[in-house]
Amino acid sequence: MEERSLNFIEQIVEKDLQDKKNDGRIQTRFPPEPNGYLHIGHVKAICMDFGIAERYNGVCNLRFDDTNPVKEDVEYVDSIRNDIHWLGFRWGEIYYASDYFEQLYDLAIRFIKAGLAYVDEQTAEQIAEQKGTPTEPGTPSPYRDRPIEENLRLFEAMQRGEIEEGKMVLRAKIDMANPNMHFRDPIMYRIITSHPHHRTGHRWNVYPMYDFAHGQSDYFEGVTHSICTLEFVVHRPLYDYFVDQIIRFKAEDEQKAFEDYNYRPRQYEFNRLNITYTVMSKRKMLQLVKEGLVAGWDDPRMPTVCGLRRRGYTAQAIRSFIDKIGYTKVEGMIDVGLLEHTIRENLKETAPRVCAIFDPVKLVITNYNGGPETIVAENIDGHPELGTREMTFARELYIERGDFLEEADKNFFRLSPGGREVRLKSAYIIQATGCEKDADGRITTVYATYDPESKSGTEGGNRKTKATINWVECSSCIDVEARLYDRLFACENPSAEEGDFRDLLNPDSLRVVTCKAESALRCEMHEPEYIDGIAQVHHYQLLKQGYFVVDPDTTASKLVLNRTASLKDNWQK
Ligand code: ATP
Ligand code: MG
Repeated sequence: MEERSLNFIEQIVEKDLQDKKNDGRIQTRFPPEPNGYLHIGHVKAICMDFGIAERYNGVCNLRFDDTNPVKEDVEYVDSIRNDIHWLGFRWGEIYYASDYFEQLYDLAIRFIKAGLAYVDEQTAEQIAEQKGTPTEPGTPSPYRDRPIEENLRLFEAMQRGEIEEGKMVLRAKIDMANPNMHFRDPIMYRIITSHPHHRTGHRWNVYPMYDFAHGQSDYFEGVTHSICTLEFVVHRPLYDYFVDQIIRFKAEDEQKAFEDYNYRPRQYEFNRLNITYTVMSKRKMLQLVKEGLVAGWDDPRMPTVCGLRRRGYTAQAIRSFIDKIGYTKVEGMIDVGLLEHTIRENLKETAPRVCAIFDPVKLVITNYNGGPETIVAENIDGHPELGTREMTFARELYIERGDFLEEADKNFFRLSPGGREVRLKSAYIIQATGCEKDADGRITTVYATYDPESKSGTEGGNRKTKATINWVECSSCIDVEARLYDRLFACENPSAEEGDFRDLLNPDSLRVVTCKAESALRCEMHEPEYIDGIAQVHHYQLLKQGYFVVDPDTTASKLVLNRTASLKDNWQK
């Protein structure tokens, strides 16, 4: 890891270690709800949660916050595990909030018995109306003072499935006038009978709400630092209140004083990640997927981890991006240009260069009379240690149509008849002699002669030319499907615009073209290799075109490449 100053949460952790809080133990958790795929916003949380544990010899567990069976699925559980693993993080244990349903239910009963919770029979609308405003107190529910016995009986009936969904909830009896709205008798449990839970099936008919599940799960597991995003700041007093009650019950049972218990989890919050030209909400992403506006969760335009991976982002680049943006206590928006810059910086160092011609025109070298010849080119110029590849050279090549002009002005340095010399990348120097056109006047063939003494890597190869152009050899090159991806949205902050975010999609976010690539890429038309369960993908720089990665749609007869990023970097430091 690069040396950098401590972020504010690391500073808190160091202070807690000095103060011997929680006996010097550091335990964090990453708590995704399995209701969608992970996006790069989650990666920011993952880097924090796992990063703290790694740095301070603690443990970070993965906890699925699966308290809403309506939206959750094992498909999501599996993808989340896979993505975290791919990012290079290793959890201690895997837990599920549903592991604690029994304990949470018993705790709810305990709340009822202590007169701290009641069953409300009002509708969600009525409850909302009675909440009041931050400056006006709320109105107590008519069911607020139900006898304890009745609350117990009704809550048990709720769990037995005897009460219809939406007809009753269990509420904490706290303070309807509290300036923090979350204290105005928050809902602890609701009834869900219509959907089986992906792990507990039909065992439960009541499910705990986030506020009643999260802090408790942290407490049961022994979490010391419960790190989340800023929107939970207002929930923190309630988090502490519920934890206080557990400790109080425990003290009561064990006949000790509240103060005798030093362990407690504490919540800390940092700013969410938002990135320009995209949306960072699972709900909106699910909509894009369901309505077929993208090809799936792993569409290379999606800000999901699997989308970024398919786009050609490496785990290293994503983590380095998170490191660059850092953690603060104010919300903001990050320029997607920084993310793109980070992957370019990463691939610039590692991606082998290859030629691919996107708008081909044939080039015939009229004085080349031999058979095909092999040219050895460095994967990255000037870095022999990064290996070489073989290119086939022969009499007939493809070059980019734009690299030849029949009549060029003095600012055009590429191919044109009239004596100017141009180097074919990694090969010979040539001079154009003329061209042939079809009936419409479109050039079909360019003719040139080459200098056999000018081969790159030989003595004559040092001769300088004003331009170098790309080429592939006609009979050995392969047709490649190139998917040219761009930003998913046409406007900078789709979430801040009026109207439907789906109307703001960039209509040019995907262009599919066929190009002719050098034969070295043929090796990609095989099954990828797996290491530690992770498919090894190869990244390339198609010279003058951009960074590309092999797409899993590739078969033995067709290579598909996704453009990760163009070469032009407009990120301003
Ligand atoms: P979404 O709003 O996209 O549905 P969420 O917050 O509901 O996201 P969870 O699965 O509950 O998704 O999130 C798991 C963890 O990831 C939480 O601790 C949450 O704070 C964090 N997280 C989610 N989105 C972001 C983000 N954009 N930036 C940083 N952390 C995030
Ligand atoms: Mg959430």
